Amino acid sequence: MEKRVSTKTFIILLLVALLFGILSRMYWVYWANGIDDFKFNGEFIIQTFDGFTFAEGARDLLQGYHQPNDLSKVQDSLAKFTYILNKILPFSFESIIFYMSIFFSSLIAIPIMLISRDLYLEKAGFIASLLATIANSYYYRTMAGRYDTDMLIIVLTLFVLYSIVHVSIKNDFKSLIFIPICVWAMKWWYIQSYSLLVAFGIMLLLYTLIFDRKNPIKYQAISIFFISIANFMLIPKILIIGIIFILAYKFEDKFNIKNSIVLVILSIIVLLFSGGIDPIMHHLKNYVLKKDSYTESLQFFDVSKTIIEAKIIDIDKLALRISGHMIVFIISTLGYLLLLWKRRVMLLSLPMVGFGFLSLVAGLRFTIYGVPVLAFGFGFFCVILVDWIFKNRQTPILIQNIIITLLTLIALYPMGKNIYNYKAPTALFNSEATILDNLKSIANREDYVISWWDFGYYIRYYSDVKTLIDGGKHTGQDNFAVSFILTKDPISSYNMSKLAVKYTEKSYKEGYKSIFSKILSDYNQTNINTFLDSLKDEKFKIDLKSTDIYLYFPKRMIKYLSTIQKFSRLDLKTGKAYREPLFIVAKPLSLRKNGYIDVGNKILIHNNGRDIYFGNIKHTVNIIATIKDQKTILVKGDINSNIYLIFSKDHNEFIIVDKEMFNSTLIQMGLLGIYNDKLYNKITDTKDAKIYRLR
Ligand code: MN
Repeated sequence: MEKRVSTKTFIILLLVALLFGILSRMYWVYWANGIDDFKFNGEFIIQTFDGFTFAEGARDLLQGYHQPNDLSKVQDSLAKFTYILNKILPFSFESIIFYMSIFFSSLIAIPIMLISRDLYLEKAGFIASLLATIANSYYYRTMAGRYDTDMLIIVLTLFVLYSIVHVSIKNDFKSLIFIPICVWAMKWWYIQSYSLLVAFGIMLLLYTLIFDRKNPIKYQAISIFFISIANFMLIPKILIIGIIFILAYKFEDKFNIKNSIVLVILSIIVLLFSGGIDPIMHHLKNYVLKKDSYTESLQFFDVSKTIIEAKIIDIDKLALRISGHMIVFIISTLGYLLLLWKRRVMLLSLPMVGFGFLSLVAGLRFTIYGVPVLAFGFGFFCVILVDWIFKNRQTPILIQNIIITLLTLIALYPMGKNIYNYKAPTALFNSEATILDNLKSIANREDYVISWWDFGYYIRYYSDVKTLIDGGKHTGQDNFAVSFILTKDPISSYNMSKLAVKYTEKSYKEGYKSIFSKILSDYNQTNINTFLDSLKDEKFKIDLKSTDIYLYFPKRMIKYLSTIQKFSRLDLKTGKAYREPLFIVAKPLSLRKNGYIDVGNKILIHNNGRDIYFGNIKHTVNIIATIKDQKTILVKGDINSNIYLIFSKDHNEFIIVDKEMFNSTLIQMGLLGIYNDKLYNKITDTKDAKIYRLR
């Protein structure tokens, strides 16, 4: 087992692992190639809403300008990285952002193989590379078109692990240099990695104190690590690290334990003074305690209640996400424990496992951290199992390798099947991209397009306009205005749109945090509820010159209505939610003999639309709206009923709502296409989206 493979074999194994990651991810491309809906301008559309924020930033860097306060992420590392790739590679912008994740996430094999070489465990490392690169959670987060920082997060985390494992094994001066480089790359790429880096630092400190407390190199490594993760300017940081290097080199013989410990204590003091544990506390608040850090006198709806990412998962799901199958997960865990016992330097990888298991309390976004280390556990298990079986026997190495290969293939099978079955569509389809691309030629870059936050980034990417909310800016307060605009009557929406845009722009210039407190004081009002009520008046005056406002209603927004309404259907003075509105979306399943259409959930709708059964109780319908070829026909029913029925022939879908929701801007303008032409201009009206401009 202590035999090393030759450099040539090592490089071949590494290349095979890299190629395996890339080809596995190309399966989606192969499958989706004929689907024109997934493409815009002949190139695949990316897979994530969030990705469009980096795409916007990169596009703005390439064009050399962007508008003040347009929230474009030109400072972001992924945007900058994309910009550089566009400058040096001969491919189109769209191809680069689509294929980046395929290539960069497959690099996970490099640090795994490097670590395994230091441990004389290249075979285990090779197995781990294959497993890790296509493990379910890692695949979901880094598949084709997942244009997101995820593509390099695990790769860079593993390089940081490599830098401390390497120095711990080699114990030589020149190995120290990897630490600041790897840490800097990680911090530059993903600033939120800070907590994990601190955990690595503490682990290295504990490891040294327990197993190697007489070794000065270890202490130098610790101080360099702590200085590298500290939050201060790059130049003084390089200077300090440089000084430590010179001291360590020049006074090698004088570096006794006492001096070393003083150095470590000094670096910890520097770390604490540079902001130390503040970022960690901030993250704990966000993920574990799930609290909004910003509060004010008005009580907005807490946004974290609706974010799926922060959902807690159970151990079965964790196993599936990390190892593809429960049995593989159990073997991996056993193998990992054996690995910690036989190669205790791997204790340094505990923070990654810890982060992986953090998903049990903090949500599934953390599972990917557990993937590579547990995959290593599986690889190690296979290698020592075969070693143990054939101990003291003359068995050809070929037979041993065949057994290891078979075990690996069995473990890879569920993951491969997962890739085969996971046929995710692109974030949006050609039709919507085309609509927004057309809007780009109509709207100015300073104009606002109002829509729900999930769509903010891609609206800005395709139309190059401004938005009120997006995937990063969506606090309870930010969402309140848009929720109000979408769920109130079209006059209130009109007034709120103008107010929200005006006061958002003003807040960038004047720096106030609470838009609504500012509005109340400007309008000499004290009661927020009476003020909001006054927006129903068509004569309400807001002067807003030179900025046009558009309302954007993608078809898919209807499905978000129950979430959207939560942000404005509450009493802002107490934070208490009002009664939930009636809102049901259903597809016709079957037609019964008595003329009723079964739409599931014990709901039956008469095919003339005039009555509906909820269970055994029959209700009449007030207005029946039928949408066919984007035209709406209204039929009056029982004027005393509070139930309104919409049947969209275009989408083969029923929507059941109450009077209030029926009269909301989202339903009236966004779905039915009914609007007040004194207030709004219709710009676009297709099956997939409607756009209006405020007059
Ligand atoms: Mn812009």
